[in-house]
Amino acid sequence: MTARLLCLHCRNVTEVDPDGEPLRCCPGCQSTGVPADADDTVTLTLTTHELRVLTIWASNWAEAIKHDSPDAPTVIYGILDEAGRTTSAALSMRQEIADLRAMPGVGEVTVYRSDGTVTDL
Ligand SMILES: [Zn+2]
Repeated sequence: MTARLLCLHCRNVTEVDPDGEPLRCCPGCQSTGVPADADDTVTLTLTTHELRVLTIWASNWAEAIKHDSPDAPTVIYGILDEAGRTTSAALSMRQEIADLRAMPGVGEVTVYRSDGTVTDL
């Protein structure tokens, strides 16, 4: 019996023998972050807006802490990319703005931070 471990950094799935030598890092990217059990999944029902609140807040938080945790955006955007395969909802502010820009007749969109500076979204 093998276990399948999902690296949250590169999304690589590695099969390991639970009774064998412990995995010290991801063989794909050498990340030492805690992997997920690739077969331990959940299904839940949320409104699109609830999902967007969770995912946009998570991506904003990851961006806010990236100086101390440089892997945080990679991990969060990897999860969002995976979630995005099952929904057409924009799951990040970047995608929300891109969808807005793609709407007919909208044209250029400028996003300001609360301090009045322009973001790179
Ligand atoms: Zn990896």
